[in-house]
Amino acid sequence: MPQIDTSKVSRWDQHGREHVVRVRRTGVQRTISCDTCGWRRGAQFLPWLKAQEHLAEAHQATVDPTAA
Ligand SMILES: [Zn+2]
Repeated sequence: MPQIDTSKVSRWDQHGREHVVRVRRTGVQRTISCDTCGWRRGAQFLPWLKAQEHLAEAHQATVDPTAA
């Protein structure tokens, strides 16, 4: 039975709105999907990097709420 886990990348835009891209892993496949606009794609490598790129390009959301 393949292990499934989910994590997410969240960024805030300049208006303080939170945008979340979820990274879902099923075996070796990873699917990333955006809660804000429904964008999704498969990403075998560096899904978090692709998530960050989408957040920055589509939503101008570049502020990492977990950054110190
Ligand atoms: Zn989006």
